[in-house]
Amino acid sequence: MKFLSYKKKFFFVDKISIEKLSKKFKSPYYCYSLSQIKLNLDNFKNLFNKSSPLICFSVKSNSNIKILNELKKEGCGADVVSMGELSAALKSGIKPSKIVFSGVGKTEEELLFAIKKNILLINIESESEAILLNKISQKISKKIFVGIRLNPNVNSGNIRKISTGLNDDKFGLTEKNFLNLFKKVNNYKNLTLQCISVHIGSQILKINPFKNTLNVLEKIINKTNFQFKYIDFGGGIGIPYENKNNKFDLRKYSNLVEKFALKHRCKIILEPGRFIIGNAGILVTKITYIKKTKNKDFIILDAGMNDLIRPALYNARHSIVPSKKNNTNYKKNIEFVGPICETSDKFLNVKKYQHIKEKDFLLILDVGAYGMSLASNYCFRPKPAEILISKSNIKVIRKKEKINKLIMNN
Ligand SMILES: *Cc1c(COP(=O)(O)O)cnc(C)c1O
Repeated sequence: MKFLSYKKKFFFVDKISIEKLSKKFKSPYYCYSLSQIKLNLDNFKNLFNKSSPLICFSVKSNSNIKILNELKKEGCGADVVSMGELSAALKSGIKPSKIVFSGVGKTEEELLFAIKKNILLINIESESEAILLNKISQKISKKIFVGIRLNPNVNSGNIRKISTGLNDDKFGLTEKNFLNLFKKVNNYKNLTLQCISVHIGSQILKINPFKNTLNVLEKIINKTNFQFKYIDFGGGIGIPYENKNNKFDLRKYSNLVEKFALKHRCKIILEPGRFIIGNAGILVTKITYIKKTKNKDFIILDAGMNDLIRPALYNARHSIVPSKKNNTNYKKNIEFVGPICETSDKFLNVKKYQHIKEKDFLLILDVGAYGMSLASNYCFRPKPAEILISKSNIKVIRKKEKINKLIMNN
């Protein structure tokens, strides 16, 4: 994390210290480093430079329109899974010809919208969807390009909640169903098949699940004996969270993917989300109270599971660090919790920490992906602001929600 780190005692995002920033903005708030986002993207592009893939940023990892716009300026397309995400991607300036649409439950309204916008590909996830898509296209006399999403029955080596590539999961078509639909797709006169897509899960740290997926893809492509124009390899690349040794070997992966695409003479589509934005964002929070008990002290923060649900939902362990370092020790075990009326509203337990006190600012790290995009209004709490830092430039890219707006939305 080059652009989010300590300079002497103080934590900086680019050229701005969080101590200073927190005088301007009320916590909790999300803060991102544009330089870090760009660095991540550059690293990603460099590893795939031989094949110049279409990089479709996964909008569900972070759907802030200003961030989408910055990624667009860097040449990214978008991977979307709802009409809302598709609208945001278009509004950010991303060209329809760089947008792919996945998801098992796209409604008639969503499909019609996507067809009318002339996006690059709609990735079909069931036979029923293919039938509906063909019907809608016929009705408005449009021919469209589609992909079929394969469920390769591969274990992503991950917790079940974020695995999507097993036959037990709702995503894509199993090998048999894929081949069945493949045979029928010619009968759907308004659909032109161009792509085979996969996405086996998220936060994957080992190369093997991807290798296994390529093997299944190889087998299926050979069975169809069809020249796909695109292979959409999805996203899923993991990043180190609390344990900094958990690093994914992206070079190995890019070699495999590029070799594969060269052999099959296909264009590559990649859909990274977490890899691009995960480590580029922090959640700034203030200690409201410290509640002492016999075994541990509860550090009660002003951020809760409505602002960041990953620890509660996925048992994710995000490091929490002080905005200002000191050299003293906290004498007891610590549990960082939020204000929400749920026992699962806790972020982290630690045995060792520096001395902290009420009103201090703490930073929950690596929350750029699946942080704000999963935030909710639970307990009628307004969603936090989002701030984008670029060198010493501070931009509010989303204002803190107003309670009145929450109450009166009619
Ligand atoms: C969520 C998702 C992604 C992005 O996953 P990351 O783990 O953030 O890279 C890509 N493609 C599809 C279809 C998805 O659902």
